[in-house]
Amino acid sequence: MNKKDKELIYDLLKKADSHIMGFTSEAFKKEVIFEDDKVAETPAPVVPEPVEGSEHIEGAEPVESSGLTLQDLYTKISRCTKCQLARTRNNVVPGEGVENPDVLVIGEGPGYDEDMSGRPFVGKAGILLDKMLAAIGLDRNKNCYIANIVKCRPPQNRDPLPDEQATCNAFLQAQIHILKPKMILCMGRISGHKMLDTQEPLNKLRGQIFEYNGIPLMVTYHPSALLRDENLKAPAWQDLKLFRDKLAAIKNS
Ligand code: URA
Repeated sequence: MNKKDKELIYDLLKKADSHIMGFTSEAFKKEVIFEDDKVAETPAPVVPEPVEGSEHIEGAEPVESSGLTLQDLYTKISRCTKCQLARTRNNVVPGEGVENPDVLVIGEGPGYDEDMSGRPFVGKAGILLDKMLAAIGLDRNKNCYIANIVKCRPPQNRDPLPDEQATCNAFLQAQIHILKPKMILCMGRISGHKMLDTQEPLNKLRGQIFEYNGIPLMVTYHPSALLRDENLKAPAWQDLKLFRDKLAAIKNS
């Protein structure tokens, strides 16, 4: 890796750390010397401790999001070959919606229809998602942006693997940075687990408002789960109403 790339990653780690901590930690105030740039007699390098929530940066294409537009990001995503999903995809599915959305909806990863079209949530689950959003006044063409944890389809719609999620996370971080949503709605277990860095069962996570870097976040059932099990529709509706009320409160404050 060249020096410029390493500096980009270091800068991103530093920003993530400052964002999480609310100040610049001592470790990041010192000048960094990368291990493999060390020449004889160079003092011991300052290697930053990994910061919480930054594990995605390892192995990921560095994404310097300040000054980056959504279009720049789409270009980077479309060229990404950092994980094995790139080998089997037909199209990348970066996401779609409005800029400065009220809500960022985060699914798991593209399925067949999304892989063929390059657009998120356009199959059966997508049609239901649009109805769920419409029920609380949300619309991907008016006030929402829809993205996924991974931007390429996992073969046979299997769950995206932890390393695939980690590699793709830099793109999602950049999307959040650019979009600055008022709230985040995670659809399903994979999305909730990744965003909250937990393995708690979905039924323990739903029904409450969490925060992700200061942004209120809720996890609810994935529309595919609702298509499989009608009984989940009632609790999902409870979640959506709570989400709607919280958003209204934010917008009125
Ligand atoms: N399921 C997801 O999680 N995302 C999509 O884009 C489509 C189906």
